[in-house]
Amino acid sequence: MPAPGEPFPAAGTMTDAEREELRRHGILLTSLEELYNWGRSNSIWPLQFGLACCAIEMIAAATARFDIARFGAEIFRPSPRQADLMIVSGTVTKKMAPLVVRLWNQMPEPKYCIAMGACAISGGPFKQGYNVLKGIDRYIPVDIYIPGCPPRPEALLHGLTQLQAKIRGEHLAGPDQAQHLRPANPGELPIPDYGAHDLEPPHNPARFSPPSLPRKA
Ligand code: SF4
Repeated sequence: MPAPGEPFPAAGTMTDAEREELRRHGILLTSLEELYNWGRSNSIWPLQFGLACCAIEMIAAATARFDIARFGAEIFRPSPRQADLMIVSGTVTKKMAPLVVRLWNQMPEPKYCIAMGACAISGGPFKQGYNVLKGIDRYIPVDIYIPGCPPRPEALLHGLTQLQAKIRGEHLAGPDQAQHLRPANPGELPIPDYGAHDLEPPHNPARFSPPSLPRKA
């Protein structure tokens, strides 16, 4: 609490300690932005689908032992139209990649993506395989990366809490406005086609640029 005569700090500039002090006096201060983000971060609905072994760990996270329900994220939805979190859990083959992008497009904004496990991040142990995508972030934006082969359920829960922290820090307006609120945010991402030798295009150029590897003369 400010000393007598001192100006009261604006809600947006208050420290957690000042808020806690006010709370002890029965005064709860918040903003519409905080309330909105708090509600969304504690009611995340993941899309119910899995791609490989990492999906077993994701399923385990929903069981009584790990209980993802504690974080408000237990309502796995079978329809992308009712989901706001895509957990890419497993190996993304090039045959499956266009379908994953299509599912992403069918999810309404605001939506988030967790790349769970080495395969979803980079192709993992199958990176050199001709048929495996070397990271889902070549096509869709990833908010949280969870390393491991496979990551344990606790790692998924940690990734989920990191995503919740990210959502709570989003701004509804201003220069740091959340991506999904910006008019330039693309409503849908291009879905790759099956080409003669690879996916066409092999990555979304707006999202990913492969590193250039200059050949030695
Ligand atoms: S990261 Fe490991 S456990 Fe997960 S899908 Fe790939 S091979 Fe399976």
